Amino acid sequence: MSLSQPHTIGKNLQDVREQIAAAAQRCERPLEEITLLAVSKTKPASAVEEAIAAGQLAFGENYVQEGVDKIAHFAGHQPALTWHFIGPLQSNKSRLVAENFDWCHTVDRLKIAQRLNEQRPENLPPLQVLIQVNISDEASKSGIALSDVDVLADQISQMPRLTLRGLMAIPAIEHDYQRQLAVFSQMRSAFDALRARYPQLDTLSMGMTDDMPAAIAAGSTMVRIGTAIFGARDYA
Ligand SMILES: *Cc1c(COP(=O)(O)O)cnc(C)c1O
Repeated sequence: MSLSQPHTIGKNLQDVREQIAAAAQRCERPLEEITLLAVSKTKPASAVEEAIAAGQLAFGENYVQEGVDKIAHFAGHQPALTWHFIGPLQSNKSRLVAENFDWCHTVDRLKIAQRLNEQRPENLPPLQVLIQVNISDEASKSGIALSDVDVLADQISQMPRLTLRGLMAIPAIEHDYQRQLAVFSQMRSAFDALRARYPQLDTLSMGMTDDMPAAIAAGSTMVRIGTAIFGARDYA
């Protein structure tokens, strides 16, 4: 099946929504609790446009400049789109994220949080942020240890231009459902513990194309889906 076929993205989105509904039903969770983020990294604005035509309004981008270009392309769109930065964030790119995105999922150190807080323009609402936890991927340099979440959460909660919404994780690739579930359940426990101190937290961002059902079973409130919506990415 070629992605150049018209309506493919719309059909894929419909399939993903059905999979989310089925996963939610299996664990008796209300569907409204789960937000679908369409991860459009490496895909052209025309692909985003197809997703919008199929009713999708929340998008995730990994690369700062690519995301900023798409945000500019769709500026003023009605109904409003929501743009989530979900890639690794270097200090020298924080201003572009603070000035353009609605959310940042990958806050994993004080310095980045401070910069985003200082750089968030006064005329915009506070940047909605998640703390990225390195839950199982020793090879990744992104994310903080679970044991460091409390300190960073306390620091972020003092920052007026940031609103802490919850936690995010990208576990190491794992094909077995039960093992996926075990890792995601650790995140859920950490989220519940943090929510005992900050009851307003409402977002647990986890689950991608290959591990979405397990993430939902463990309590994900935001799944980040790229491949199942837009097809395989070409990094050539
Ligand atoms: C690319 C990416 C996704 C989407 O992954 P798929 O497997 O294509 O669904 C989700 N989250 C993050 C952080 C990503 O980098």
